[in-house]
Amino acid sequence: MVIKEKVIGIPRALIYYNYIPFLAGFFTKLGFEIIYSDLTTKKTLSEGASLVVTETCLPIKVYVGHVLNLIEKGVKNIFVPSIQSVGYKIYNCSKIRGLPDLIRNVVKGDYNIIEATLDKSEKNLGLIEFLKQAVEPFGITSDEEIYSALKYGFIQYNNFKVMVQHNMPFDTAFNNALKGKVVINQQEEEKEINVALISHGYNIYDKRVCMDVFKKLDSLGVKVHSAYNLTDDQLKDGMSALNVDLYWANQLEMSGAAGYYLRSLDIDGIITITAFGCGPDSLMIEDINRKAKNFNKPLLNLTIDEHTGEAGFVTRLEAFCDMLYRKKRAYKAENKEEIIVPVDDYTINLR
Ligand code: SF4
Repeated sequence: MVIKEKVIGIPRALIYYNYIPFLAGFFTKLGFEIIYSDLTTKKTLSEGASLVVTETCLPIKVYVGHVLNLIEKGVKNIFVPSIQSVGYKIYNCSKIRGLPDLIRNVVKGDYNIIEATLDKSEKNLGLIEFLKQAVEPFGITSDEEIYSALKYGFIQYNNFKVMVQHNMPFDTAFNNALKGKVVINQQEEEKEINVALISHGYNIYDKRVCMDVFKKLDSLGVKVHSAYNLTDDQLKDGMSALNVDLYWANQLEMSGAAGYYLRSLDIDGIITITAFGCGPDSLMIEDINRKAKNFNKPLLNLTIDEHTGEAGFVTRLEAFCDMLYRKKRAYKAENKEEIIVPVDDYTINLR
């Protein structure tokens, strides 16, 4: 049966933080109205967590909560894809791969799951097949229309990427991309301390999940860098710096970013944020942890779940940043850094 109304619900969780500029462009070009779930709240977390086993990782609990929120808003068709493999022998974790099955089993109600599978390893289901599956239930089968929407999706995605690479906050860059605007901030603010935040986009860009970590670090006078500020080539360089092969679909944003920032002389320390119960993260973080010692970079690892208290989280951030300040000032004092002040044709070295 063909679904007549072109209205689709998208949960504001998991792959939202990787692909939403593309998906928004794609669905909009095909005439869809997109309804997003609301921002994550305590209710989203507790309702999502109540439907799955305790050991499930936090991002999946959050995702379930967002599906419930869409149903509450009366959305009948919810996009829940299965992103199995994003490249040859590059896989997602079992939870992301089995997302439609998980949602079908735990969330009961009057709604349809719009399911599409991306599997570039076993089933040779690439992006085109994936998109066709997503819109077929709505009676859209024209290759021409789908290709044109795909092109539009990529334009929005690329515009978004350029803006976040230039340090624009996620939401602002997304909103600009939706309006077809590209705004680049030429004058980046410099701060005494630079920290690389290594985590999945769905952890750090969801303000509730991560307790607004960007704002907290900013208030401590720290400039934050993340995988979203890097190009694909820089992330691949980071993988070589750590000497690891790509296996996990989200490894570039973890190991790639960590490798790049560990090697960067501008970065004073690394903060990794991982979800309790995440198998891939425990492997990647263990490796990053070990290699951080070779690069002589301080590293703080924070694990989050739905019970993580804000006070303890902030205390650990403060203590880490305080240590970075002291280390940097001690280093500067010891090395009596050379300051070169050009005066006409002369150069004065201050020591
Ligand atoms: S990668 Fe880890 S945190 Fe993300 S969904 Fe899979 S198990 Fe959960």
